[in-house]
Amino acid sequence: MVLAELGGSISRALQQMSNATIIDEKVLNDCLNEITRALLQSDVQFKLVREMQTNIKKIVNLDDLAAGHNKRKIIQQAIFNELCKMLDPGKPSFTPKKGKPSVVMFVGLQGSGKTTTCTKYAYYHQKKGWKPALVCADTFRAGAFDQLKQNATKAKIPFYGSYMESDPVKIAVEGVERFKKENCDLIIVDTSGRHKQEVALFEEMRQVSEATKPDLVIFVMDSSIGQAAFDQAQAFKQSVAVGAVIVTKMDGHAKGGGALSAVAATKSPVIFIGTGEHMDEFEVFDVKPFVSRLLG
Ligand code: GDP
Repeated sequence: MVLAELGGSISRALQQMSNATIIDEKVLNDCLNEITRALLQSDVQFKLVREMQTNIKKIVNLDDLAAGHNKRKIIQQAIFNELCKMLDPGKPSFTPKKGKPSVVMFVGLQGSGKTTTCTKYAYYHQKKGWKPALVCADTFRAGAFDQLKQNATKAKIPFYGSYMESDPVKIAVEGVERFKKENCDLIIVDTSGRHKQEVALFEEMRQVSEATKPDLVIFVMDSSIGQAAFDQAQAFKQSVAVGAVIVTKMDGHAKGGGALSAVAATKSPVIFIGTGEHMDEFEVFDVKPFVSRLLG
């Protein structure tokens, strides 16, 4: 189920509940079951969905609600709050400060949109007056440096990389050192990905992270990966200190569930979403407006 359909299904379930003359246990259960089905079809993890259902039932105790209470409103609010809670790990991520050098390392599988997102992130900050720089520590994929170079040149952002050097740790360290000397305040390290979660990839991420000591590690995830999101995000989190998530390709046939699972697996917030291939197709992510929009 794609994201727009998920919103539609939840809204319909709420509407059906609103249409009922009396809101009793059965009406509430029907509504919650409908929402549960929609979330599962959108690839939200079963465990998360069940937790949500239990929480709502705890909050909305129909017997305790006096006749005067607006039960519909209370149920709707509880559902809204629970959806927000699923997307909000409860603590903000590290936020770089303009004028103070920060190192931000990007991790994610090949094809997730990591390299594109590095440039988008740099470009977004550059427009706000930052001095970003890009380091290509992806020595695994042929053409990775060219891609980063091309993007960086287009956005007029300084970059560092090598066609010859095969050690990603060496390049990452050299790049970070150079841009610190040049007083860049946002040094972005693009790392290599693989098609699969492999031991070698995670070991490499660990080494690059240890050598560059990033202030923030961002996990980049393709929104269409569905059920695989939880395990993938968790595997990265176990190797490096993932502190934030960026979900890409939200313009496509996005299944919203992956984002919810990635937040749960990394206990980190989604900070931006990618909404297209172009440099400026990039949006700050805010939980409440997102859930409001989802519910229509
Ligand atoms: P990497 O292997 O993770 O570095 O992935 P790339 O940055 O090379 O991206 C893989 C493909 O996804 C490229 O064709 C990108 O243009 C595309 N892409 C990245 N982000 C988005 C997005 O938000 N929306 C869409 N539609 N395409 C994207």
